[in-house]
Amino acid sequence: MTTTLEEITALRGLRCRACGALQPADERYICGECLGPIEPEYDLDIFDAETLRVDIERGPASLWRYAPLLPVAPPTSHWPVGWTPLIEAHRLGDALGIERLYLKDDTRNPTLSFKDRPVAVALARALELGLDTIACASTGNLAGAVAAAAARNGLRAFVFVPADIEPEKIASAAAYGATVVRVNGPYDAVNRLCGRLADEYGWGFVNFTLRPYYAEGSKTVLFECAEQLGWTLPHHIVVPVGSGALLTRQATAANQLRATGLVPESHFHIHAAQPAGCAPVSDAVLDNWRPVEPVRRPETLAKSLAIGAPADGDGSVKIVRETRGSAASVSDDEIREAASLLATTEGVLVEPAGGVVVATAKQLASRGVFHAGETVVLYLTGNGYKGGPEETALGPVIAADADAFRLAYEEVLA
Ligand SMILES: [Zn+2]
Repeated sequence: MTTTLEEITALRGLRCRACGALQPADERYICGECLGPIEPEYDLDIFDAETLRVDIERGPASLWRYAPLLPVAPPTSHWPVGWTPLIEAHRLGDALGIERLYLKDDTRNPTLSFKDRPVAVALARALELGLDTIACASTGNLAGAVAAAAARNGLRAFVFVPADIEPEKIASAAAYGATVVRVNGPYDAVNRLCGRLADEYGWGFVNFTLRPYYAEGSKTVLFECAEQLGWTLPHHIVVPVGSGALLTRQATAANQLRATGLVPESHFHIHAAQPAGCAPVSDAVLDNWRPVEPVRRPETLAKSLAIGAPADGDGSVKIVRETRGSAASVSDDEIREAASLLATTEGVLVEPAGGVVVATAKQLASRGVFHAGETVVLYLTGNGYKGGPEETALGPVIAADADAFRLAYEEVLA
């Protein structure tokens, strides 16, 4: 199995971020030496840039087109995760004062969020290991992604979520056939519980025992942006931060794109977007790059970002600093207003996390962070249909006759 894997990808092994030890890509998920976090390392010099580019462009319309830069071979049967559109957003750009604005619309994945990407890679690994059950701790979107991927591959799924999660999100996970376990307490408590259960049950916990593989799926967002921009990096990306895995892997992706020669050197800045009710990373950035302090009781409309003790929190601050990026934390009112602005200018409906990203871009634009001619990409990671509309703005209910409409039109709609 390992031999096959090494033939297909450039995986060299798993490198510990704490002590630097390089270890074989076996079943381990933390460093055998120091228990630190480990992540895949690749032999990028084996690639000829032109050959690699042609191979990718000939590949499937999914994240598996980047298989040479992923730690696991594509599963024999896969569904189309990734390769989502990069949309020019002139009307939103005008409203925000950003000249060259793009939306990376990851709400168009099979379960309507970017989480289908990391799950696809984790699931391919679970199948290689012969696991029959996958599981996760989730703020909502991951639950649906894990449940659907398990269903499609005939595996069992257990998803652990905070009990106060939006009912729509649990409903979809349950509909896909997963066992939903609602846990009293914030996400961090759910996360700790899964950490304790992972070894005991031997399941593939996508964000624990499969994490080194899981996190790699997030790189493909930037791979796609670069390819869609004609093999060049955008100048700025604005990324929502929950655990920080998405943000930190965008830096990994940029480094790999440069190291393989797929994109030229250019200046590239990563900006962190968080809701004010749970902004451990943004607050650390804005408070002169201090260490991340956990938020004990996250309170925000953007529940998918309500992670008070992010696993890649300090890592995110470091990456934002290294790429000379910035951050913002935005209020619930700003989130609602921004999500509405996006919907009414571009026709893209996002969950509150998308509002966090748009509101952050607005703040950064007003601070003069983006310069004329620079490309700015907003990461839209979750669809608004799952959250349901607010009670407001649904409009009047009328009788099924034209007079009733004329009356309503005069009195209310006009
Ligand atoms: Zn180590």
